[in-house]
Parts: sequence; structure tokens; C-alpha cells
Amino acid sequence: VDVVNADFVKSSVETKECPCDGIPEFALVGRSNVGKSSLLNSLVRRKKLALTSKKPGKTQCINHFRINDSWYLVDLPGYGYAAAPHEVRTDWAKFTKDYFLNRSNLVSVFLLIDASIPAKKIDLEYASWLGQNQIPMTLVFTKCDKRKKKKNGGKRPEENVQIFQELIREFFQTTPPWIMTSSMTNQGRDEILLHMSQLRNY
Ligand code: GDP
Repeated sequence: VDVVNADFVKSSVETKECPCDGIPEFALVGRSNVGKSSLLNSLVRRKKLALTSKKPGKTQCINHFRINDSWYLVDLPGYGYAAAPHEVRTDWAKFTKDYFLNRSNLVSVFLLIDASIPAKKIDLEYASWLGQNQIPMTLVFTKCDKRKKKKNGGKRPEENVQIFQELIREFFQTTPPWIMTSSMTNQGRDEILLHMSQLRNY
């Protein structure tokens, strides 16, 4: 179950460029700043591995990491980056949707949602698109260590998580699996790896 080795394999700009050896893969996706690189690094216990995905020119790519020589973790570009030009955002939508719909060895999309803030419209749209297209999805709530001060009207991560799940319920026949995580405390790390291993053996 644990990550023994992790190697960066390649960056692809479209689905047909992705590695074609057919081993199972899991894709991490989420809004920019959701904590995707931190989570990736926490999963592989390597501080800077995900920096590969943050290098200029690579943030808009599909980045494949081979784990234990037997499956892939895939880092997809973050969405909802307000400063991105319109064309970039449109391209992003086109190629990630193509990836989700056509990547046959994709076992599950891990959709990252920031549990420290209220549900965002773009995250709900994203989850609903995945649900309506019946793409297998696991919800990964990030930053669960962050406690908002009540007096500022902020909600606890647990409350944000519950509200998010209620808001997306109508788009799914069954409630998607969900995991609460923190890259600061490593909460949820083992649970994610166990879940991935169960999905691979299913
Ligand atoms: P990305 O843009 O999705 O790759 O996000 P990053 O991993 O770069 O994280 C964005 C910001 O959120 C950084 O300032 C991180 O330090 C912070 N962050 C990421 N994960 C956590 C977490 O689990 N807990 C807390 N408190 N902060 C986090």
C-alpha cells in the first residue's frame, strides 16, 4: 500500500500523448491553490517531487508519476485560476474533459476540495460534470487542519464538508467516497493510499 518509489515519467499536452502501458491511474484535480502539490508531496513523502508540475510550462500539462513501478498518480492542471486568460481556461476545459472521457486506465478522479472555505461555484460545477458523465470520483477534502474563527462567520471544515456533499448529492446515484486530509498533519494520507490500493484490486 505504501509508496516505495515515485518517478516523474512525462508531461503531456493531450490524452493521446499520455503513457500507453495501460497500468491503473488516479488523477488529482482541483482549483488552483487547493493544496494539490502539497498533497502529492505528502502522498509520495517527497518534498519537491510535485515541483515538476509547478515548473513554468508544466502547470498546463498532464503530469504522470509512476508509483512502485505499478501504477500512476496523475497531476492535472488546477482550474479556476482567475488570472488565466480566457483561451487558456477554454483549452483546459477541453483537454481535461477529453482526458476524463477517453483515458481507459483511469480508475478514479480524486477531486480536491478546500474544506477550510465554503463551497465554491466552480467546484460544484466540476463535481456535477463528473457526476453527470459518470466518471468515477473520490472527494478529497484538503486543509482540514485549518480552523476558522467563529466570530468571523467561518465554518469548521466538518461543516463545509457536509454542506458540499449535500450540494452535490443530486448529481450522483450513490454518494462518492470521500476522505478528509491535511498535508500539514498528514491526516488522510494512509486512507488515500489504502483506498487507491482497494480500487486497483477491485
Ligand atoms: P496547489 O496550487 O493546489 O498546488 O496548492 P499548494 O499545494 O501550492 O498549496 C497552496 C497553499 O495552501 C500553500 O500556501 C500551502 O502551504 C497551503 N496548504 C496546502 N495544503 C495545506 C494543508 O493541508 N493545510 C494548510 N493549513 N495549508 C495548506
